[in-house]
Amino acid sequence: MAIKYSKKHLTFKRLLIPILVLLFTTGLVPADSSDHDVLAQYLANEGLMVVQGETKVVFDPLFRNSYGQYQLLPEPMEEALFAGEPPFDGIDAVFISHHHGDHFSPADILHLLKQQQEIRLYAPTQAVAGLREVAHAEDESVFDRVIAVDLVYKDAPVMLKMEGLLIEAVRIPHSGWPTSRLDVENISWRITLNDTTTVLHMGDADPNDVHFERDAAYWNKTRTHMAFPPYWFFTSTYGPGVLKNRIKADHNVGIHVPVSISKNPSLRPPELRPYDLFTQPGEKREIPVDAPSSEGLD
Ligand SMILES: [Zn+2]
Repeated sequence: MAIKYSKKHLTFKRLLIPILVLLFTTGLVPADSSDHDVLAQYLANEGLMVVQGETKVVFDPLFRNSYGQYQLLPEPMEEALFAGEPPFDGIDAVFISHHHGDHFSPADILHLLKQQQEIRLYAPTQAVAGLREVAHAEDESVFDRVIAVDLVYKDAPVMLKMEGLLIEAVRIPHSGWPTSRLDVENISWRITLNDTTTVLHMGDADPNDVHFERDAAYWNKTRTHMAFPPYWFFTSTYGPGVLKNRIKADHNVGIHVPVSISKNPSLRPPELRPYDLFTQPGEKREIPVDAPSSEGLD
């Protein structure tokens, strides 16, 4: 029996290799699948990058304040970002959720825009004002690549476009609503890359359904492949319902996770164990995309 099995096995192997060669040469299987992968890669706190082929977007990448409990960027990662070295080469756009020290450092973002002159910055007006405060007269040309989104609470979502990107923004109050931080312009960015992959970065959104019910049609019209809610969405009263019934992303990865939460899921507080969290700078998630997401957008 053993001999028969191994013979069969050998025959299978002999056949398999030519079949694979045929598939590769006919282009039925991509020779380098990494060209086609869609990935999310974690930086720190709410900083992350989404890549599809040549298109790269980054959210909340540079900040200096950990408030004693959040992850900061490792130094080599920060250096690669400023230098435009892999994996941060060819970034198309940077999105800022809000002007808080654990999301946005105006001086560092200004430095990045000066170093990497292809990057466009999209940010709430409040953050752009912060950028202006640290800029000098000779930095004026940087602002040609800065797009301020001016939204007040309850405004309808806005839509912008640039090559390869459909950019949608809605103001969702910062957590603490309705009693605190009402002045913070927090933007949730829904970004569609190359008409195929849609991701949602929520900033420090407050997890009350009232903010999402208002724009139910907006949330319904687009399939979100991956959403990045702050982790408190998983443990708050209404957050899980917002994710399940309004945003309906194929997959959620929680961000803004304090460093006190273990990298090992089994060592996390029980209420967080069922969820996927970004905790380690550099870690990645593949974003499966099997259907166009931009249907019905126009
Ligand atoms: Zn924050």
